[in-house]
Amino acid sequence: MDECIFCRIARGEARASVVARSSRAMAFMDIAPVAAGHVLIIPTAHVADIYELSDEDAAAVMQMAVRVARALWAAFAPAGLNLISSNGRAAGQDVFHFHLHLVPRVPGDGIRFRWPHSDRPDRDELDALAREIRSHLEIAS
Ligand code: AMP
Ligand code: ZN
Repeated sequence: MDECIFCRIARGEARASVVARSSRAMAFMDIAPVAAGHVLIIPTAHVADIYELSDEDAAAVMQMAVRVARALWAAFAPAGLNLISSNGRAAGQDVFHFHLHLVPRVPGDGIRFRWPHSDRPDRDELDALAREIRSHLEIAS
């Protein structure tokens, strides 16, 4: 029943490279090579998709996304950022726990979203990236 991987991460039961945490929201590095450099921001409570988000969770998740965006900017000055939410299978959603993808962009990266440092970051690199972003957050968590 309780198989949701993002719920398990929110409860500290599954490994994640954590960028930020509050009572309502959490941010961590995406683990997939194809999504290298994405920071995922989730409500800590299970919400399947955007239609079910409470106003309070929406505010908490968006505030965390903005703070992480500022920290990414301070740490790496990417050429741009995308903030993405997929909702529903036909829209490309794979994990049915609402999440935002915060995607730093590099010049010339037209199709794939890539982290500037590596195409295939391993766990140590994800932890190092999370640590670097955390060190630039206005409010430590
Ligand atoms: P979406 O396809 O928009 O639903 O996004 C799901 C994202 O979650 C994908 O980019 C996956 O790589 C990512 N993901 C799945 N499991 C984990 C995990 N255990 N830790 C970090 N990211 C994950
Ligand atoms: Zn969940």
